[in-house]
Amino acid sequence: MNTVAKKVVVRFAPSPTGYLHIGGARTAIFNWLYAKKTGGKFILRIEDTDAERSSKDSVQGILDGMRWLGLDWDEGPNFQSEFTADHLTAAGKLLASGHAYKCFCTQEVLEQKRTAARDAKATFVYDGLCRDLSPEETAAKEVAGLPYTIRLKVPRQPGAVVFEDAVYGVIEKKFQDIEDFVIVRSNGRPLYVLSNAVDDIRDGITHVIRGQDGLANTPKQILLYQALGAPLPVFAHMSLALDPQKAKISKRKHGEPVAIHFYREKGFLPWALINFLVLLGWSTPDNREIFSETELIAAFSFVGISRNNPVMDLRQDDPKFITDPKAVSINAHYLRTLPKEEIAGHVRTQLEKSGLWQADFAEGRADWFRETVDLIRGRFQLLTDFVTLGRAYFSDEFALDPKALEKYVLAHWELKTRLPELGQRVAALAPFTAGTLEQALREAAADFSLKLGILVNAVRVVVTGHPVGPEFLECLLCIGQEKTAQRLDKAQGLWN
Ligand code: GLU
Repeated sequence: MNTVAKKVVVRFAPSPTGYLHIGGARTAIFNWLYAKKTGGKFILRIEDTDAERSSKDSVQGILDGMRWLGLDWDEGPNFQSEFTADHLTAAGKLLASGHAYKCFCTQEVLEQKRTAARDAKATFVYDGLCRDLSPEETAAKEVAGLPYTIRLKVPRQPGAVVFEDAVYGVIEKKFQDIEDFVIVRSNGRPLYVLSNAVDDIRDGITHVIRGQDGLANTPKQILLYQALGAPLPVFAHMSLALDPQKAKISKRKHGEPVAIHFYREKGFLPWALINFLVLLGWSTPDNREIFSETELIAAFSFVGISRNNPVMDLRQDDPKFITDPKAVSINAHYLRTLPKEEIAGHVRTQLEKSGLWQADFAEGRADWFRETVDLIRGRFQLLTDFVTLGRAYFSDEFALDPKALEKYVLAHWELKTRLPELGQRVAALAPFTAGTLEQALREAAADFSLKLGILVNAVRVVVTGHPVGPEFLECLLCIGQEKTAQRLDKAQGLWN
């Protein structure tokens, strides 16, 4: 008989109660990677059943973040709140099959028992009082209009729920430590533990890949799967990303270097962030750090996921850093090495956001734009550097590095007249090439009795704003004859 391997179906199931953070994105990435690796299906499910804590803005933030990262999903977004009927149908089935029962214990009675357990320094486990009600007793209470919850019957015989987590290994939870838990509240609303399992069963999820905080629910969910006669998925729980204080990343504020949005604003490339995040708590035997999409998909496996919670090196209070230095260096790597067309596309977005974009950068000067990006990207770490450090290439409104201005320009008073004179010589060059430019500079240095180095440093600062950068003549050629001449001419005003 032919056996057809079951198609992998995974899901990312965020609760829309905040922004998309590093931890959530990491879960999404691992699901996405596993689907890509296996040719499986990736579902996006928004678990919005907690109406008070869920918000539309948060849903939008999650969708925007996923799209920006390029984590494309095959189905969804499905909203859990639209499937309440499925959850209640499942509860009805469990009642009918004798796997669940109606519990009429009031809050007051439960509270008294909880207090008694606390006083006795014992863990409160619901005693199953209503489990043994006869059908007649149950019917009578219902007829009397008493409110009830629905609880799952946890096996009473000795034993345990045992499962093998793909990351944490064999996990065991004794039946006696799991109470008959509520699956439907007395107001008729399903509990999250039920909704989550029912959605996974309906969607045919084969691998539940989620944060380690989901581990606490897993034994209960396994009991639900079994009671509903559904095959169990593979569970893979992932360690939780922590901040330097060892607190959960998700507890930190929006706008801190834990929000996906933050990285987008700061000028990270989406793939660089994915590459960085995947290394938080996952590694290959050779500790490789840089992966293209194809390489990452090929290399990914649950085996490399660490059980220890990775700590992010946020460096938030250090003005020299904006986040974990490793994230920055990975980003710089991709800025330097991705195809120049691709980087030019990202730079365009940055310039548009900062009001520096000009239509002819894409039309008449498209080649110039791409080559300029290629020329200056070597030293940059973030996309925003194109707007700050690289501003002089795209705009006449740029600031001169104050220290460099002082040291390389203002300190040499004779440059006040010499730079404009050089500007006139530059304006007269025909053609304007590296050769003619170099010759003009050498001649000027000789004529002005100035060291070539002094002239070159000053020109670089007044034309590009910075004392360092790519090859000097290339920079001037890129900025162009007219602008170079104008900036040299204007330099005389710096001494005022
Ligand atoms: N909605 C849960 C959360 O955002 C995820 C639960 C799951 O993946 O099973 O933490």
